[in-house]
Amino acid sequence: MKQMKQTINLSKRDVAFTLKRSERARLLRLEISGWTGLVVTAPSRLPMARIENFIRERAGWVLEKMAIFDAARPVNRIGGGRRDYLKNKEAARALVLDRLEFFNRDRRFNYGQVKIKNQKSRWGSCSRKGNLNFNYKIIRLPSRLADYIIAHELCHLCEFNHGLSFWRKLSGILPDCRALRQELSRYRSWH
Ligand SMILES: [Zn+2]
Repeated sequence: MKQMKQTINLSKRDVAFTLKRSERARLLRLEISGWTGLVVTAPSRLPMARIENFIRERAGWVLEKMAIFDAARPVNRIGGGRRDYLKNKEAARALVLDRLEFFNRDRRFNYGQVKIKNQKSRWGSCSRKGNLNFNYKIIRLPSRLADYIIAHELCHLCEFNHGLSFWRKLSGILPDCRALRQELSRYRSWH
């Protein structure tokens, strides 16, 4: 049995799912739980288009179930404090600078100062002058979510609002940015 992570766009929402390819499976099967998320089991050689159609036909059911599980899932609170900030500030700076450079390699957006702050609830911000601020607690997030915040602020250097061209830029860097945004909404920075 092979497993891989996939995403599918259902009603303008990127929905992550686990695709299991099985030699023994004869039929497509969908399962969903709060613990595993959406799991699709498919015969090993069934074309991806068939699998996607199968999920699309059941989009209403999938989204309804996901909404129920999302609402029930607890919010992760990430706490800190002054001492914790001083201890982790430089590690956070190293992470942020490293990823900024990585995402900006082919883009060459100009940014000013990069500050690591001890912010209560914000994860990041971009000033009109092009300075970028990040909450040091992003080092406690799963790395894909830290990446999301860093790439998000990077895109604000060109697009100051969250309009269509902003999202287009961001999906050019992180194709699953909408799913990541959704995932990030389950985390709160907390003092
Ligand atoms: Zn933003």
